[in-house]
Amino acid sequence: MATTIGVIAEPVDHDVVREFFELFKTPWEFYRSNRSYDVLICAGGCPSSADAAARLVIVYAGRKTSCDDEWKVTVLNQRTHSCLLAYRENRIPIYGNSATFRTDETILLTDEGSVECAAYVEQIGESYRARVGYELFAEIRKLLIEGQPAIHSGIPSLELHIAFLRDLLVTCGIEVVEIPPVPEGFRFIACLTHDVDHPAIRPHKWDHTVFGFLYRAVFGSLWSFIRGRLSLRNACENWAAAVKLPLVYVGFAKDFWADFGDRYLQLEMGSPSTFFVIPFKDTPGKIVGGSAPDFRASRYEAKELAGTIGKLAAAGCEIGLHGIDAWLDSSKGRDELEEIRRLTGNPKIGVRMHWLYYDRQSSAAMEEAGAAYDSTIGYNETVGYRAGTTQVYKPLESKRLLELPMHAMDTALFFPTHLALSPKEATTRLKRLADNAVQFGGCLTVNWHDRSLAPERLWGGCYRDLIEDLKNRGAWFATAGQATNWFGKRRSATFETGEKGPGVICEWITANKGQNLPGLRMRIHNSSRRAGACMDVSIKEDTHSGVAFEA
Ligand SMILES: [Zn+2]
Repeated sequence: MATTIGVIAEPVDHDVVREFFELFKTPWEFYRSNRSYDVLICAGGCPSSADAAARLVIVYAGRKTSCDDEWKVTVLNQRTHSCLLAYRENRIPIYGNSATFRTDETILLTDEGSVECAAYVEQIGESYRARVGYELFAEIRKLLIEGQPAIHSGIPSLELHIAFLRDLLVTCGIEVVEIPPVPEGFRFIACLTHDVDHPAIRPHKWDHTVFGFLYRAVFGSLWSFIRGRLSLRNACENWAAAVKLPLVYVGFAKDFWADFGDRYLQLEMGSPSTFFVIPFKDTPGKIVGGSAPDFRASRYEAKELAGTIGKLAAAGCEIGLHGIDAWLDSSKGRDELEEIRRLTGNPKIGVRMHWLYYDRQSSAAMEEAGAAYDSTIGYNETVGYRAGTTQVYKPLESKRLLELPMHAMDTALFFPTHLALSPKEATTRLKRLADNAVQFGGCLTVNWHDRSLAPERLWGGCYRDLIEDLKNRGAWFATAGQATNWFGKRRSATFETGEKGPGVICEWITANKGQNLPGLRMRIHNSSRRAGACMDVSIKEDTHSGVAFEA
């Protein structure tokens, strides 16, 4: 029968515990004193007599607890500042309290600074007890609310917390059933998105956009060419664009930013992507207590792109809202969403905020405005995992709105003020994110801006290589809405366990009927039915379908 994990946690942490176990989708429940558990997770506190029955007791605490005396372990160091723990070939950043131990038992985590033990497991007869020197749910809360500093952006910390716990269970011989964040038939999800900020250069006359364009097209291209970062052909294309600009203004030459839709359709070759468009022009929007800088205002509005929007939608792409004020004002958010609904005829519109404006109440504001999902959480200045996860998650302040984290933006990779990478370095950096997607599952979300294939950026080569790489690695290319719906389907699955005759056990799973989305799969580690194996089983999707295993 599948193992159910009992969790003891402070009531204030129950929301985080629930979300953690949506991401590590395995059977669990809050500890009930009248039940016995194979595995007991005690966060911040100590197990009582209940631990006698459990095969594995795990105590997570970043300070000395009474069980340390009981278990006769010496706590060496108690810290309140952040640190890095070595876990196999990975490093897990810890942002809150942490403790280290003196022990002769099996060491699971080591503090990088002091090389002291930060987690160990001890076998006592048939059972095990593990002591982990940090506060799991405080760490998850920090990741989901504040996010990680840029210095640790490359580390999928939340996935590592899950992987560490799973490894610990498996090491102790526990049968673990989970629904991994991996769509059936694929290895992970890839979500290609485009923030549409500058769908034409013609409306920009002698503003910072045009001066920036001219400077980079003329001098930036020369400098990049000298450093070997730009081919002569691309440099010439940029110089020609700069020379042609006056002709674009008077209408004698084609606006080289205007055909972004066709360029992307051609390059993505049938992999549907998502375009976030700005609803209203000349509106810089608000910030808390004032107005956003004037140059945040867009020179176009979505209705001017009606033709392009229709063409993209017909090709299977999704149109979302590139929001102005939706992040802090739900009534403005409602107007912004309504404008995109009106243009697309699609009732379900997702959001990414312009300039990634976002604060703690944004998910609630967008939910109230009626957004289908949000995809704003990411970095402007670097790439990686702000919330520490490769997965779609529910922000703690929202009731249903899901967040599709954005992992890599072209401007972060290439802008001299940000990572300033060469195309080759950018490809290497993106491959690392794809490695993590393969290892942990989830959805790799990238944002290539509308004008990035055109002069003076010409960042299409790197983007083409990325798509090719993701294809070769077995990605399911989904629009942002499809990706969040797939995770919504996974969240709707629940576990029930029953026995059907001698030697045959059923794991019953209920799941929402998917909207033409790939299926879910169930993964069983230490299967009691297939000695020691890790096996995957497809889940049939009826409202209450079961998967039966032969003994
Ligand atoms: Zn934008």
